[in-house]
Amino acid sequence: SKMNGRQLLSFYKPEMNRDYNQLLSLEGDLREAISKNQLSLYYQPKVDVRTGYISGMEALVRWKHPEKGMISPGEFIPIAEETGVITQLDDWVLREACKQSQVWIDRGYAPERIAVNVSAREIQRRDYAEKVRNILSETLLDPRYLEIEVTEDSVMQNTEQCIRTMQDLRALGVSLSIDDFGTGYSSLSYLREFPIHYLKIDQAFIKGVLTEPSDAEIVKAMIQLADAFQIEVVAEGVEREEVLGFLRENECSYYQGYHFSKPVPAEEMESYLSKKEKY
Ligand code: C2E
Ligand code: CA
Ligand code: CA
Ligand code: CA
Repeated sequence: SKMNGRQLLSFYKPEMNRDYNQLLSLEGDLREAISKNQLSLYYQPKVDVRTGYISGMEALVRWKHPEKGMISPGEFIPIAEETGVITQLDDWVLREACKQSQVWIDRGYAPERIAVNVSAREIQRRDYAEKVRNILSETLLDPRYLEIEVTEDSVMQNTEQCIRTMQDLRALGVSLSIDDFGTGYSSLSYLREFPIHYLKIDQAFIKGVLTEPSDAEIVKAMIQLADAFQIEVVAEGVEREEVLGFLRENECSYYQGYHFSKPVPAEEMESYLSKKEKY
């Protein structure tokens, strides 16, 4: 189960009871993790609902702690955000994802768009688009093969600045997604304001489409509205064939989920890419 930041802190250094020291020590561990290569990326395919072909992937960070083993991003991202280490972490992820993607392109696989997640405080920086531009030119990745996922929540925190940054990114040729859509406080009509290409419907709604009539209606409404704004919809957390059937019937464009694949290490992602070539 997911722990929040505070629970993790008490788990992390039970003998200490001053939160501030605990935060500092975890911050140190995280910084060390970045510099000592304890972080890695897993990749989850994005799949075309109609054809069943892979049409892209999302990079998801993993932390292999030397003593504590695998720590999931749900546990350390909130602390990275609180301590500011998120800047280094998100930079590392972006650079690593771009590098890996260019490696696959150089090996001759058909290029697939790679999506990275960005935290609220990063997307709100005025120089964020500039940073992305620099990492793209450093790694030689064509901007059209990069996608940036911004959560609905972070856009709602500072909407005007976020929209400006998104416009700059779009001008670079990078694709944009609104992540975890439906969980925040924006209304559907906000979609018109966002310069985005994709809308990712949060898995909480997708999981309910077969059993909760209201979830099914919400998902249908999101798909229809996105369509009116020429935004493509990605359904998250698809675990069952029947859910895929629902998405097909309602003309959702893409999906991600355990039904096709969990997030996998680079070598396994590469084997998906090599199979696709043989179709
Ligand atoms: P997210 O961006 O919404 O990513 C989707 C999460 O759902 C991933 O968890 C993925 O493993 C999981 N998932 C995918 N398909 C299924 C499914 O069919 N069933 C279920 N139950 N789960 C599924 P993960 O990898 O643990 O990541 C959790 C969150 O951590 C992400 O949510 C994202 O918000 C954040 N995160 C991950 N990597 C990064 C990163 O590099 N930077 C930042 N800022 N945040 C990240
Ligand atoms: Ca995401
Ligand atoms: Ca999501
Ligand atoms: Ca989510």
